[in-house]
Amino acid sequence: VKQEGRNGFRFFDPGMQEHSARALALSASLRHALARQELTVVYQPQQDLHGGGLYGAEALLRWHSAQWGPVSPAEFIPLAESSGLIVPIGDWVLRTVVQQLAQWDAEGLPPLRVAVNLSAVQFAQPHLAQTVQRLLHESGLGPRRIELELTEAVALRDPEAARRTMEALSQAGMRLAIDDFGTGYSSMSYLKRFAVDLLKIDRSFVRELHSNPDDQAIATAIIQMARSLGLHTLAEGVETEAQREFLRARGCDAIQGYLYARPLSASAFADFVRTQPKL
Ligand code: C2E
Ligand code: CA
Ligand code: CA
Ligand code: CA
Repeated sequence: VKQEGRNGFRFFDPGMQEHSARALALSASLRHALARQELTVVYQPQQDLHGGGLYGAEALLRWHSAQWGPVSPAEFIPLAESSGLIVPIGDWVLRTVVQQLAQWDAEGLPPLRVAVNLSAVQFAQPHLAQTVQRLLHESGLGPRRIELELTEAVALRDPEAARRTMEALSQAGMRLAIDDFGTGYSSMSYLKRFAVDLLKIDRSFVRELHSNPDDQAIATAIIQMARSLGLHTLAEGVETEAQREFLRARGCDAIQGYLYARPLSASAFADFVRTQPKL
């Protein structure tokens, strides 16, 4: 259920509106979360496996509700998607990340790239590409500074509209990543039809990489296929040295996971970047 909710299409089926009492109450609170400044963005560093330095970061949303305490995005993002709140919240995340990047630039941090998650609902907004371009333009940031993470669900409802939006974003110079790669239903046709730059190998293939020959075969195949298509690969949820070494040996470009760093507040992230060895 969590997996389906995350993809952001399930709740559009009116026959499936089976929200628990907690979900309904959370949804009501979430409506005020932006105005009450209960949302923050944290940044998880990603490591370049070739040089060993910083590859970039992923922006991840956090909700600390006055009423409920910290609520996991795995729980509240699906609620935001079903209520449509993900649109204003997602805009806020984009704006926050762009402002943060501009501030880090002003503070003299190296110009790194931050990946932002876009839900399928957000992606279906007609003016998404213009909105993102306007934000970047206003802050004077180049388009390469933002990477957009999409799941395969973005193409489920209207593949042609999705293709056009991806084309527009890609033409504008933004990098596109497929999140949770391999867990959807359409991975291969997706690669053929859409202008993507990076595949994020899902954590479910990484978790037992040290012991599970099937996961080893799948991870290896994704990396090799990406290479021959000229795409980058990043493996998610890397927690052990053995996982990192396996991926490095196979030619994976980057990793993200607790082994390298946890998601960090903006200021902790800036400290992390400053302590990185210069290449
Ligand atoms: P995701 O995009 O697959 O993000 C990766 C998740 O894995 C994050 O969970 C991250 O904290 C977690 N993680 C990173 N490294 C490790 C590791 O080594 N081990 C384990 N066990 N977990 C690791 P988080 O922050 O709870 O986010 C959950 C999901 O919520 C995200 O999954 C994403 O789908 C969604 N999400 C988060 N922020 C946003 C947002 O701003 N917009 C949208 N649309 N979705 C978001
Ligand atoms: Ca993601
Ligand atoms: Ca992911
Ligand atoms: Ca995942």
